[in-house]
Amino acid sequence: MNDLLFNTITIDKIPPGIFGTYQPAIDVLRLDKIDPLISGNKWFKLQYFLDEALALKKNHIISFGGAWSNHILATAACCKRMGLHSTGIIRGEQPAELSSTLKNAVDLGMELVFINREDYREKYVPTHLNPDDCYIIPEGGYGEKGATGAAHILDHCDKDEYSHVACAAGTGTMLAGLINASDYQEIIGISVLKNNYSLETDVRALVTGEKKNFRVLHDDHCGGYAKHSDELITFMNDLYERTGIPTDFVYTGKLFFAIARMFLEKILPAGVKLLVIHSGGLQGNDSLKKGTLIF
Ligand SMILES: *Cc1c(COP(=O)(O)O)cnc(C)c1O
Repeated sequence: MNDLLFNTITIDKIPPGIFGTYQPAIDVLRLDKIDPLISGNKWFKLQYFLDEALALKKNHIISFGGAWSNHILATAACCKRMGLHSTGIIRGEQPAELSSTLKNAVDLGMELVFINREDYREKYVPTHLNPDDCYIIPEGGYGEKGATGAAHILDHCDKDEYSHVACAAGTGTMLAGLINASDYQEIIGISVLKNNYSLETDVRALVTGEKKNFRVLHDDHCGGYAKHSDELITFMNDLYERTGIPTDFVYTGKLFFAIARMFLEKILPAGVKLLVIHSGGLQGNDSLKKGTLIF
C-alpha cells in the first residue's frame, strides 16, 4: 500500500519573488499528489492506528468527522484498501443530500451514522455499533500514533536541506510529528482555527524528547475553521495561476497565505531554506460554489 501511494509525491519549487522580492525559492512537498481520496497527511496519520487495529484483530473501524471531512474520507479509503469495515460518525442531522465527501465515503463502503452536535462533542458511539468490538480512531487522527505516522512525512525529502518547515495545523498532530522528526529545523504551524490557543498544549502533549523548536501562528485563519475571505480565494487563484499549485481553502490555502505574509513582512530570516508541506485536502473545495476557484 505504501509504495503504491508514495511514488507520486514530488517536491516542486516556487520560484523566488512570487511573494515579494525578499522571498527566495521555496520547496513544496506535494503530499496532495498521493491519492485524490487518501489525501495528504491523512494516510501518514492513520497508518499506526490501522496497524494496531489489525494487530488487535479488530476489523471494524469507527471515526468521527463533519460533512466535508478529509479524515473521514481517507479513513473510508484506507479501510477499503485494507479490507476493513468502516463507520463514520458524522456531526449533525442527516441532510437531504449528502456532501460529495460523504457520498464518496459511502461508495467506498463506509457506513454513516449521524449524531447531534451535543453527542458529537462527547464523541458518543451509539451502542448498536457495539463499540467494544470496534477500533475507534480519534477525530482528526489526533494522538501519539497519528504523530508517529506524521513523522514519516519527512522521509520523503532530504530534510537537512531546510532551515524551516511549515504546515497547516488543525488538531496539531501533523505538526507534532514534524517536530519529532526534525533535527535543528524550526517547524512553523499555521492554525486554521480561530482563537484555538490550546493548540500549543495539544502539540506539546505529542512532542517527544526535548525538541521545542516550533511556533504556531494564529492570525491566518481568514475568518475561522472552514470559513474563507474573498482575499483568500483571490490569493489561491493567483497562486495557482503563477505556480500551478492548487490549494484547498480549509488548510493549505491558509498555509500559503500565511507564508506569503511572512515574506512580505520579512518575518522569516534572510536566506531561509523553507519546505512547505502541501497536505492535500483538495476534495473539500467541492463545497464551494462552482466557479469560485479557477482550478
Ligand atoms: C487534516 C488536515 C490538516 C491538519 O492536520 P492536523 O494533524 O489535524 O493538524 C492539514 N491539512 C489538510 C489538507 C488536512 O486534511
